[in-house]
Amino acid sequence: MRSLAHPASLRYYSTVDNRAIYLKQMELGPMQNFVYLVGDPVARECVVVDPAWEIDTIVETIAADGMTLKGALVTHTHQDHVGGSLAEWGMPGRIPGVEELLGKVATKVYVHKAEREFLRGFGSDLVKVDNHDTLDVGRLTLTFMHTPGHTPGSQCFLVDGRLISGDTLFIGACGRTDLPGSDPSEMYYSLTQRLAALPDATVLFPGHNYGGESSTIGQEKRENPFMRFSSLGDFLRTMGGGRIITP
Ligand SMILES: [Zn+2]
Repeated sequence: MRSLAHPASLRYYSTVDNRAIYLKQMELGPMQNFVYLVGDPVARECVVVDPAWEIDTIVETIAADGMTLKGALVTHTHQDHVGGSLAEWGMPGRIPGVEELLGKVATKVYVHKAEREFLRGFGSDLVKVDNHDTLDVGRLTLTFMHTPGHTPGSQCFLVDGRLISGDTLFIGACGRTDLPGSDPSEMYYSLTQRLAALPDATVLFPGHNYGGESSTIGQEKRENPFMRFSSLGDFLRTMGGGRIITP
């Protein structure tokens, strides 16, 4: 977690809007979080990935683009992705997130079953999902990939040859594995077995702007050192050696 003292900023990056997919990448808040809108440009239906920081901006963007929100997808339940109190990180204040979104729009919230307990109070709005589950958004089918390591219930979303990777895989890096609930062994398998098995052409959209807007799985397999470890032992020695990747 970094300082929250900077004023919130909004920078729009790539918008893909053709007949196949509507995909909007928005950098929101002071921690370089990427929030995504993903949907069917014909049915005009979308989901939001990791709604946090500027809920009004998210809701207004969905409306301005003529889309209807069909769900909120959670890559993992850290506060910079879902909102909430920062007390457990020893910081004052609260990040707006899922709670504020549900105060404005009625929608379902999809979280991996391993982190359901971290999103309390949403009752029947919460949907537990698991590896290989799918969600239809208009004509698109989105697949949930369980990729634990950064957190127990970290998950990526695969849709139309694109991967929204949360804090599992960054461009040139991976999520921290030294936090409560992290597991570097799980991260190793998520990176080198699960994500590395995707087609090289899969376009990567990470959860933070730490190294650009997008990449591909093939490029990361070639250039990202965290996908290139040949053994779990080597990976653990590196991750245990004080190498800290920003959250
Ligand atoms: Zn995180």
